[in-house]
Amino acid sequence: MKVLKFGGTSVGSAQRMKEVAELITDKSKKIVVLSAMSGTTNSLVEIANYLYKKNHDGANELINQLEQKYKQEIDLLYSSDEFKQKGLELVKSHFEYIKSFTIDMFTVFEEKTILAQGELLSTAMFDYYLQEQGEDSVLLPALDYMRIDKNNEPDNIYIRENLNKILEQHEGKNIFITQGYICRNAFGEIDNLQRGGSDYSASIIGTASQAEEIQIWTDIDGMHNNDPRYVENTKSISELSFDEAAELAYFGAKILHPTSVLPAKLANIPVRLLNTMEPNAAGTLISSKQRKERMAAVAAKDGITAIKIKSGRMLLAYGFLRKVFEIFESYKTPIDMISTSEVGVSVTIDDNRHLEEIVDDLKKYGTVDVDTDQVIVCVVGDLVAENKGYAHAILDAMKEVPIRMISYGGSNYNVSLLINAKDKKKALNLLSDKLFN
Ligand code: ASP
Ligand code: MG
Repeated sequence: MKVLKFGGTSVGSAQRMKEVAELITDKSKKIVVLSAMSGTTNSLVEIANYLYKKNHDGANELINQLEQKYKQEIDLLYSSDEFKQKGLELVKSHFEYIKSFTIDMFTVFEEKTILAQGELLSTAMFDYYLQEQGEDSVLLPALDYMRIDKNNEPDNIYIRENLNKILEQHEGKNIFITQGYICRNAFGEIDNLQRGGSDYSASIIGTASQAEEIQIWTDIDGMHNNDPRYVENTKSISELSFDEAAELAYFGAKILHPTSVLPAKLANIPVRLLNTMEPNAAGTLISSKQRKERMAAVAAKDGITAIKIKSGRMLLAYGFLRKVFEIFESYKTPIDMISTSEVGVSVTIDDNRHLEEIVDDLKKYGTVDVDTDQVIVCVVGDLVAENKGYAHAILDAMKEVPIRMISYGGSNYNVSLLINAKDKKKALNLLSDKLFN
């Protein structure tokens, strides 16, 4: 069995849904995980924001606009009156449900229920389409098996048991359609795996069902060796290790959600990144296999803040770093990069929500400097120490660019450099010339 995940753009219109159907209707056994149609989750977030502010007119206007859009797609998706009718009823019932939340008591519970409607709609529409085409597909409700625990981590045992139980009830069937992103929480309420979480769903489902492969279908041909928005002639990377893919996904390659690599890695299930616009292109294969070339890719992560804490007393002191890290932990703010010297430590964060409080707390331990508008440029590959020359090549390429921090040796797969945002394009191009050309 394979798991195939199609993102919002891949199911973004009736036409695109028909193209996805062509890709999945061979007779092999598969679970197809779908996102909401592109733009839908953003619109649902906006609707929820209006409802939090009790702006019911604003919410209703958006709800009606979105409903109109779905009605148009329904008309284009189905050819028979029977299915056009079924589709319209489906859309009507979901939007009536959304409208039932234009009430004064609007909490995160109502919000999450609204956000779930995007994936519930796209999968139901797609399943109807397959039925109209005479396919014997089965709609698997993610809310019946996908669950997170009290720490918002996937409840893997529950998921495995329940998903496999449902699959067994449909023995002999080959095409299963299910929702990405949505789940229930430890209290049984509707919840989600965070924005972009459909990739994570696919990976969790692949692991739970012991799939032979997880495919993530998007609209570009796999991960590229540099950011095509800033660098010309980037190339699709044919193979990556799980660790390299995790670093790249985290540090900028938007094509794959970073959380989705770990479950696949632990279960050793290959992940293939494929392009719906060019289904026969090779894409990127992420697996435990060793690659031949060492340098894989360069990526950049925006919106980084660097914080430097200088303490006169760090000299020969122990416990200083623990105290510093505890402050970040108490504000649930993850640290990306670290660089230490005998008199101080610099760290970077990408979540600024508690910056002020963090800085205030850090001042107990020394002087604190903050630099905003930073970018982490990260070089990913199999950069093990015996392979001399990579650090030199990277720094040589960057000789014209001021570097604020360097991190090397944290893993065998990544060298990270912190630079000013304004130097990002230049840095990406210099590294590209030096490392790949
Ligand atoms: N529809 C959700 C989002 O837009 C989940 C996903 O597409 O991955 O964030
Ligand atoms: Mg995505």
